[in-house]
Amino acid sequence: MNARQAPEFPAWPQYDDAERDGLIRALEQGQWWRMGGNEVDSFEREFADHHGAEHALAITNGTHALELALQVMGVGPGTEVIVPGFTFISSSQAAQRLGAVAVPVDVHPDTYNIDAAAVAAAITPRTKVIMPVHMAGLMADMDALAKLSAETGVALLQDAAHAHGARWQGKRVGQLGSIAAFSFQNGKLMTAGEGGAVVFPEGESERYETAFLRHSCGRPREDRRYLHRIAGSNMRLNEFSASVLRAQLRRLDAQIALRDERWALLSRLLGAIDGVVPQADDVRADRKSHYMAMFRVPGISEEGRNALVDRLVAAGLPAFAAFRAIYRTEAFWEIGAPDEPLEAVAERCPNTDAISRDCVWLHHRVLLAGEPEIHAAAEIIADAVATA
Ligand SMILES: *Cc1c(COP(=O)(O)O)cnc(C)c1O
Repeated sequence: MNARQAPEFPAWPQYDDAERDGLIRALEQGQWWRMGGNEVDSFEREFADHHGAEHALAITNGTHALELALQVMGVGPGTEVIVPGFTFISSSQAAQRLGAVAVPVDVHPDTYNIDAAAVAAAITPRTKVIMPVHMAGLMADMDALAKLSAETGVALLQDAAHAHGARWQGKRVGQLGSIAAFSFQNGKLMTAGEGGAVVFPEGESERYETAFLRHSCGRPREDRRYLHRIAGSNMRLNEFSASVLRAQLRRLDAQIALRDERWALLSRLLGAIDGVVPQADDVRADRKSHYMAMFRVPGISEEGRNALVDRLVAAGLPAFAAFRAIYRTEAFWEIGAPDEPLEAVAERCPNTDAISRDCVWLHHRVLLAGEPEIHAAAEIIADAVATA
């Protein structure tokens, strides 16, 4: 075989003197936690402003951000949270950790985003929150979901772990009227290795205050007498991470613009390959952050898809198998699973099952490369699919 080899793609994470200076600045403050320094406070202000939100609360990681957000929204034992079947497991685990039931529903076969009609069919008197995940930075149908939320009184929590800087009809995540949770884990679009944030839109100051207390052992900001007012935990982000995130945020918009240009090219090239269907667009999602470059190979078996990913990796592409349907993991059934058999869940999630079987994604650093590298990536994919 004279298999084509991929060119070099840009590294991820990226950093320069801005991160270096930030880390030194945090170090030399002499206080390395948020209660003593300025970096977390400054980052929260900048991140909230960037997303059109009233408040941002920096958190240890994205999973904790989802947990905390759900908790301040009233999720706990006896309640249900509707999540897409196709997502990273944190979406459901966050609800389950709070003693709630996570109810998976199907996603759209082209956008891989939660299907509003499926959500409507799954609402019960116990449903407390609907959690859309903006898959790969393509926003879920926030119009249909907002309408459903208004009609039923069930609140939305955006899992925005892929959606830093994304927009829906010109609106940023913090302007869509619902609380949102972000992740800053190593692979995410801005990162400090680990980290997260909960973002609160206008009108949610009370929940922000509660979240602040809960993320800091129930203790008011100025407390010096151990007056813990409500139950909580320690989910505070440290000053070093915040200093890095401030630098990462300043690079975000230019990187999104570049990824968007490259995805326009890559998706056109992928769409021309026999048997390959790139993740679809939604014109209303007018700014996509492109956390992953995703495509399906409809009809391929799961083993065939896995072998395809292996071939892409061997050729030098940072390729991965898509998320497994959350209800097809052992973890999902340990606590907080619906009172129905796996088969019943799977039966109402045919698109989730198909996508988790036939979908492949490339790391977003591919989309930071030049046009020749994008052409090379598409050619490697075409070769690998042709021999599948
Ligand atoms: C990464 C991710 C999370 C969790 O974030 P962590 O910071 O890794 O805990 C939650 N939801 C989705 C969809 C993710 O991709």
